[in-house]
Amino acid sequence: MSEINISVEVDRGDREPQPDFVKLERIRKHYGSVVALDDVSLDIREGEFVTLLGPSGSGKTTCLRAIAGMMTPDGGKLSIAGRDLSSVPMNRRNIGMVFQNYSLFPHLTVAQNVGYPLRVRRIGRSEAQARVERALSLVRLDTYGDRRPAELSGGQQQRIALARAVVFEPDVLLLDEPLSALDRVLREEMQLELRRIHREIGTTMVCVTHDRTEALTMSERVVVMRDGRIVQDAPPEQIYLQPESRFVAEFLGEVNIVAMTASNDGRPFQDEAGRTLALEPSSPAGSNGAVDLVVRVEHVGLKPAKEAVDDGHRWRGEIREALFLGDAVRMVVDCHPHVLVARLPIERAIGLKPGDIVDIDLAMRMPMVFAR
Ligand code: ADP
Ligand code: MG
Repeated sequence: MSEINISVEVDRGDREPQPDFVKLERIRKHYGSVVALDDVSLDIREGEFVTLLGPSGSGKTTCLRAIAGMMTPDGGKLSIAGRDLSSVPMNRRNIGMVFQNYSLFPHLTVAQNVGYPLRVRRIGRSEAQARVERALSLVRLDTYGDRRPAELSGGQQQRIALARAVVFEPDVLLLDEPLSALDRVLREEMQLELRRIHREIGTTMVCVTHDRTEALTMSERVVVMRDGRIVQDAPPEQIYLQPESRFVAEFLGEVNIVAMTASNDGRPFQDEAGRTLALEPSSPAGSNGAVDLVVRVEHVGLKPAKEAVDDGHRWRGEIREALFLGDAVRMVVDCHPHVLVARLPIERAIGLKPGDIVDIDLAMRMPMVFAR
């Protein structure tokens, strides 16, 4: 489905969006000896689209459940629009939720499913009907009101779940791995759809995913979690290009890691074979000179080596494998003692094949250096 550009600006009057509309202050939760949330503090701007990204078990769902009121934290403070939620039960929080499994009522029609939250809130019939129509049209399923969930595809069912979550105009929309059950093509389409819906309704959205591409594509801000803690909180470009730790760098994509030694006197970095590389910063704080150079596979340059001489100090290697990926070629290069991986756009891989000797450019774009 193509993305139709209807930018409906959301009217908040003259008011600036509240920077800490959703506010988590040192939220803690443990289950036995497992610390699911370890002093999580997070401010979410009114109307913002934030993604919580992290491996399985990092505390993402627990964080959403805390906001929704589905569980009570052991400590910390939570507020929405300045209102302390500690004594506000789940059904009084005005929060919409979408889960991986659509959890639609199978015996109700699509329109009855979407209208369900309005019945619970005792909204009058004609008003409810108008709202259901608007919600169905928002998710582009205007004509599906009379069907049953079982008659819809997975993607359509997820759209219905979304319509049901926004029909009562929640203050916040929480989405827990909403696209995980969909196949790749549908998932990519729905990522754009979620962005469009966010633009149209302007609701504050917090989405959980373990899929880095999804997080980078969809949201305005990515909060990376690990072991119940926030390890980085930044816009997608910054998370990808300036990760603050090796963990985030590795979680965001395939990388090469080369152990290097830095010196404080301005000389370049060296690997164990004595190959040098001029990099900024010349020595990260606290590293004692031992660093990991981290280079994304898509940021490695390869060129056929011109002269045959190799004094062993050049970044030069032999292509061992070339795997055609469609839009790119994944090359494995032996650069003793390192085995490096490069992902080259197809036009830059032309003429390179296993057995070729290549010059390797590791500092071509955005190399990252972390203290070891
Ligand atoms: P994520 O959503 O990032 O995969 P969760 O928030 O579901 O992670 O879980 C974080 C940690 O808390 C995990 O170690 C998980 O096993 C544990 N946990 C979550 N919910 C419960 C629960 N109801 N009972 C016991 N342990 C739980
Ligand atoms: Mg989860």
